[in-house]
Amino acid sequence: KHDEVPFSSDPHVKVIARIRPPNARETEDYTVRKVSDNSIAVGDRNFTVDAVLDSKCSQEDVFQMVGVSMVKSAIAGYNTSMLAYGQTGSGKTYTLWGPTSAMLEDQSTGGDQGIVPRIFRMLFAEIQREQDQSEDKQINYQCRCSFLEIYNEQIEDLLDPTQRNLVIKDDAIHGSYVENLNEEYVTSYEDVTQILIKGLSNRKVGATSINSEGSRSHIVFTCVIESWRKGTASNNFGNSKTSRITLVDLAGIEKNRLRGAGRECVKEVEFLKKSISQLGNLVNMLAGTNQSGESKDIPYNNSCLTHLLRESLGGNSKLTVMCAISPDDKCSAETVSTLRFGHRAK
Ligand code: ADP
Ligand code: MG
Repeated sequence: KHDEVPFSSDPHVKVIARIRPPNARETEDYTVRKVSDNSIAVGDRNFTVDAVLDSKCSQEDVFQMVGVSMVKSAIAGYNTSMLAYGQTGSGKTYTLWGPTSAMLEDQSTGGDQGIVPRIFRMLFAEIQREQDQSEDKQINYQCRCSFLEIYNEQIEDLLDPTQRNLVIKDDAIHGSYVENLNEEYVTSYEDVTQILIKGLSNRKVGATSINSEGSRSHIVFTCVIESWRKGTASNNFGNSKTSRITLVDLAGIEKNRLRGAGRECVKEVEFLKKSISQLGNLVNMLAGTNQSGESKDIPYNNSCLTHLLRESLGGNSKLTVMCAISPDDKCSAETVSTLRFGHRAK
């Protein structure tokens, strides 16, 4: 019944590589370079992805390339997700959220604002447009958001940090969900940005400099969108749709860190390795599944991250893996492993 959406012909999993511009301490030496629209080279190694965005690419370009179709499909009733993957300092946080100060400004075209605020600006504009339609076509929308952090395989509520050690439950009606996680109803862009700002300020290790501890946790923002025709009950399955937009800012995936040579304790390294390898397996399997493919055999429950992504990635859903890439020569080994992860998703 969603035939009108051209999106359904897109691949299940899309991989995008975004090379950030060099900072003041770096010189662009072209070890890492865009070769063509879907090919990126690191030294003499080539990787094929769905799209390569170079350092000239703006936040709005990223939104146009990925965000617009995410919003359209979410409104049409599909689940869509984006995972930002890459070493610390490669641009994951910038790409997703951008600076929080930029969320408060109207930067719907230019500026540093990340893809997430742009997505929600468009989502509420689209919902408003639907409201302006003639009475008989009107659709009710109800959106609710949650924001959580996974650190050492423990789930914490970023909207209420007193809620720690939350538990993932599974049942036939709700699927997989996090018990006692706050869900806030939102009706506007401003509602969402407030939640984003609050959640991001509660992130355990927010520092982003490559010399700092870096971000050692995964954070997951989810918006559930329910819609139904006016005049029908929201629980009337024939008329209602539910979809999710899920945005994941992964922990910095450094080889050093995974080898245990960073500042993390053994347990932390183990948990990080496990969640990343499970995620890799999951994404790999999803990429091999077609739209009608069965997802019940996919091993979601082996880590917190994959378990709670079950609702977002299972079934008829779309995933974008955003491989964030630093242009610095010293980072090329990390870049290769980031692109290897991306390649597995192809
Ligand atoms: P990560 O979340 O992967 O650790 P960040 O998103 O914090 O990395 O990026 C590291 C630094 O680089 C930040 O200061 C950020 O503002 C800057 N940066 C990242 N990507 C870009 C970009 N495309 N354009 C301009 N600055 C960027
Ligand atoms: Mg970050």
